[in-house]
Amino acid sequence: MGRYSKKRTQMINNHLIARGITDKRVLKTMGTVPRHLFVDEGLQDQAYSDNPLPIGSRQTISQPYIVALMTEALQLKGTEKVMEIGTGCGYQTAILAELAETVFSIERIASLAFRAQRALDSLHYYNILIRVGDGTYGWSEESPFDAIITTAGAPTIPETLKKQLAVGGKLVIPVGNRSSQTLLRVTRLSEEPNDIKIEDLCGCRFVDLIGEHGWKD
Ligand code: SAH
Repeated sequence: MGRYSKKRTQMINNHLIARGITDKRVLKTMGTVPRHLFVDEGLQDQAYSDNPLPIGSRQTISQPYIVALMTEALQLKGTEKVMEIGTGCGYQTAILAELAETVFSIERIASLAFRAQRALDSLHYYNILIRVGDGTYGWSEESPFDAIITTAGAPTIPETLKKQLAVGGKLVIPVGNRSSQTLLRVTRLSEEPNDIKIEDLCGCRFVDLIGEHGWKD
């Protein structure tokens, strides 16, 4: 039992189950992955509280509830190929790696990508590939993806990401203006990339998705 296992259990009960997260695999995984190892030492005591935290370069690690909600919305079973845009500290990446087959994650800020890579290596994740670059282009060589998650807020749903989604695949993405967004789940229904179903999950506030098919810096 690690020093933080009690805090993790409280996080699961008070912030996730109490607010309606039911996917057992998501709850089990978030109950085991050491979230505190993805933040600076001085912030580790706050790693399990109900809020985002700074991770450097003016970016933040998403609050536990949002990580759970976005992951649950992807309905992962364990066989999926997943793309993540916005690796940040790598915590969400680790959760995805536990719940899917492989994760392709893109981060535009190199120093964050390197730090995330180090944290994930030390926890022995071998089914994650991280790349530094503009994730709004997606990762076409590896497409199609069964699931795509964007952990930064976009002005619109990028066409590139719709195209790289498998038929039946799901894209979870915050879309709105720079100060508030709606978390959307987009399901691709057929070979035609614009044949999609869009569901609103909740209101949210993310840092900007900056890139060719996002906000301009
Ligand atoms: N899931 C991460 C979220 C970090 S915040 C975590 O919990 O730590 C969002 C991240 O998206 C930031 O690290 C930011 O640099 C990154 N980002 C923003 N625009 C991007 C883009 N076009 N491509 C790749 N990453 C991007």
